[in-house]
Amino acid sequence: MNYSKVKAWPFKEAQKLQKRFREAPTSPVRFETGFGPSGLPHIGTFAEIARTTWVQNAFSTLTNWPTELIAFSDDMDGLRKVPLNIPQQEMLNEHLGKPLCHIPDPFEECGSYSEYMNNKLIEFLDTYKFNYKFQSSNEAYKRGDFNEGLSIILQKAEEIRGVILPTIGEDKRENWSPFFPICEKCGRINTTRVTGYHPEDDTVDYICDQAEGLVKCCNHKGSTSIHNGQVKVGWKVDWALRWYSYDISYEMYGKDLIDSAKLTSKIQRIMGKQPPSGYFYELFLDEDGKKISKSKGKGLTIDTWTKYAPLESLLYYLFQNPKQAKRLYWGVVPKSVDDYLTALKGYSALDTEKKPNSALWHVFDKGASVPDYKSSINFSLINNLISAVGTSDMELIAQYLKRYDSDTESIMDVLTDLVNKAMEYYQDYILPGKQYRTPTDNERNLFTNIHNLLKAYEGNSEDEIQSIPFNVAREFDIPVKELFKIFYEVVLGQERGPRFGTFSCLVGKDKVLSLLEEKFNIT
Ligand SMILES: [Zn+2]
Repeated sequence: MNYSKVKAWPFKEAQKLQKRFREAPTSPVRFETGFGPSGLPHIGTFAEIARTTWVQNAFSTLTNWPTELIAFSDDMDGLRKVPLNIPQQEMLNEHLGKPLCHIPDPFEECGSYSEYMNNKLIEFLDTYKFNYKFQSSNEAYKRGDFNEGLSIILQKAEEIRGVILPTIGEDKRENWSPFFPICEKCGRINTTRVTGYHPEDDTVDYICDQAEGLVKCCNHKGSTSIHNGQVKVGWKVDWALRWYSYDISYEMYGKDLIDSAKLTSKIQRIMGKQPPSGYFYELFLDEDGKKISKSKGKGLTIDTWTKYAPLESLLYYLFQNPKQAKRLYWGVVPKSVDDYLTALKGYSALDTEKKPNSALWHVFDKGASVPDYKSSINFSLINNLISAVGTSDMELIAQYLKRYDSDTESIMDVLTDLVNKAMEYYQDYILPGKQYRTPTDNERNLFTNIHNLLKAYEGNSEDEIQSIPFNVAREFDIPVKELFKIFYEVVLGQERGPRFGTFSCLVGKDKVLSLLEEKFNIT
């Protein structure tokens, strides 16, 4: 099959990336994603690595060339601010300004702050079975991976200053340097400024006098080699240094980093290499449309999504146009699951060459493991069913679903996951909020009519059953919406609920009749 015309965005990215190569590369084509280990990995981290993986998969399918994904952790970065959701705030305040890899672990489990966060990242990525190579910045600096690049940066420090200075405040220009030596006396990195460059022996002079806010300095004057982890470069330069040293061909980033990526690309050219192919995506917003920040922890987490809905539905959601801002709160989840199920239902009927255009091809291992799902049972229906019958009995739910769709056997894997997750949601959110109210005499009268009409009805048509409350509403001259509201509040103990006809077909006429008899006291 020819993949050069596939229009799904990961393939467009792959096609663009392929144009960089005049011939097949002799080593794996490298993709990178970066992680800032000052906080715990979050949905943004997950989305970036998932999306990069999709481009990587599309690229290897398109070219048949070997590829590699590097998950890079910037653990040499200095801690500027203590995130609010981390323990031992006072202890951490004492270490402000030091590289994350030199700060004690506030959770007291690992050798350092960043080691704890790195482990969390690795655990997180492994849980979701991503294929990547983890690289710690600290290890890379110490091992000398960056030495060659660092020497070039020192030789070209003036040129690099020429790129950065126009982009920063005038008061900061004089002291700006690509290099941040780690103060050999107090161990801080955010407090030093370079006072002399010596490219002839790869050293710089510095003074530790840049206290700011809670970050203290020690006024030490020193001189140090720029090699093997004694000096870090500022983050835009650091980004270029990674691209340079690891020959990165592809990296994507959030919209907020577009300007930084431009500057980093200029630095990369000064260093003598072509910047990677790039792609920016829109940021994630919370329910109020505010940017989801790691330190505040507002907005939906991956744990929440995957506890109450299938992981694949999250991936399906993240796949959709990354250039569009996405809100992450519970409200988007049921619809996303239903969109995902609708896509599943249509997948097998797609022509083979159209399949790579579908998100499902990307979500399910290059189309290799897309489940066959042809049912019209969707997530809303399952949620409504569980909420209506108020049970956590999987067997019973399965029986109801079978009544609605006789062919549930072949889709049991997908259904079981959906039902289990909907039950979790029911237990945690729906059940505690249920409030059944007693109907008024007038309401009892209305529903006795509905009851009698339903009892007399002998067919099994969803639409005909749905027309019963409409007829009663007309007869008594009240809006049908009122009737449904009474039904939900009295019978289901909630404000909203499923379509009356759908619900009746799902649980069966007899069950609806007995519910009406019980709740409206109909004899
Ligand atoms: Zn110092």
